[in-house]
Amino acid sequence: MLPRTSQFRNEREHAKVASRRLFRKLIVSKTVLVVTPFHETGMSMLEQHPDIELCFSEDISESAICAAVGNAHAIIVRNGLITRKIIDSAPALEVVSRTGVGVDNVDIPALTERNIPLTITPNANATSVAEHAMYMILTLAKKGHMHHRAVTERNFAVRFEMHATDIESKRLLIIGFGRIGTRLAPRAAAFGMQVDVYDPYVEDAEIEVAGCSVATDLDAALSEADYVSLHCPLTDETRHIISNAELSRMKTTAVIINTARGGVVDEDALVEALNSGSISGAGADVFVDEPPPEGHPLLSAPNMLLSPHHAGVSLQAAERAGVSVANNTISALFGTLDQAVVVNPEVL
Ligand code: NAD
Repeated sequence: MLPRTSQFRNEREHAKVASRRLFRKLIVSKTVLVVTPFHETGMSMLEQHPDIELCFSEDISESAICAAVGNAHAIIVRNGLITRKIIDSAPALEVVSRTGVGVDNVDIPALTERNIPLTITPNANATSVAEHAMYMILTLAKKGHMHHRAVTERNFAVRFEMHATDIESKRLLIIGFGRIGTRLAPRAAAFGMQVDVYDPYVEDAEIEVAGCSVATDLDAALSEADYVSLHCPLTDETRHIISNAELSRMKTTAVIINTARGGVVDEDALVEALNSGSISGAGADVFVDEPPPEGHPLLSAPNMLLSPHHAGVSLQAAERAGVSVANNTISALFGTLDQAVVVNPEVL
């Protein structure tokens, strides 16, 4: 049993802490509504923040989020739609933080009208996609997908067929030298590949400093490439940037990899090129229709390596995205946002 004075002191301390907590809740504390749960490392950054109260909306319907968002200063979302109605229902809203880079699920004009930033996590999965492109280059060179199947089908004699190739000294053309393209270049160079870059929006010096050659003429670069890897966004300009004419310029031994967006490569033209042998192989992580419908000719095209829009998905990417979405939220509420993560920087 504590002496009476110590007990009194303890009670006074408790009261002080409780009143400080109440004060913070009333005056300082910010409410963060989590619509889509994210990686536990990022989640615990918010849970442990002394001035943040977390609340959750497990139902991602518009009406459920509207009902939950009344006191929110921040919304964290990945998949749910953040509509004008939801934004109008959140008078205290200061930031919407999205995990990932796509922003078509958020009404940006409605946020911008109220000077509310929308943040993304642009760097979280760039390394994962660059590694995936490298994996596709290596698998197609070594015929990894075919060899696995051959061994499971008891065809060990496949080892006497000379069809694997080395990538050392081969030319890789990277189309789009942003977050992912710049990360692929050193990985390919480490395997001894010569890297050419086509990106009309990046300074030549930036490409050269990275140890790559500048490709100003896409057609000429395509005719010299052994591997072509696409890392540009899908825009009016890049839709079918690789189609019949471009594929016909490529070497018959060339391989094309698309981890960017379905539609950047003309899928019909690609199927035709693979079937006719005008190029030797292709990798695709992204498709015009996802998943590609049953019987889609890409699914059975020769020397085609497929993955289910998974290039940006890894344990580390999920953790980086979680930490980044938590950091963006904390910076928006209590500090200064890095402009590079803000989709509508005019509000800053
Ligand atoms: P980024 O914005 O950092 O870089 C894109 C680059 O493309 C920029 O340097 C830009 O100048 C260049 N570009 C634009 N138009 C071009 C053109 N006509 N020709 C050549 N280059 C052009 O983007 P990022 O983060 O590197 O992402 C690249 C692509 O990868 C995007 O389409 C993105 O959606 C896709 N992506 C896919 C996955 C996946 O899981 N498969 C994951 C993340 C991103």
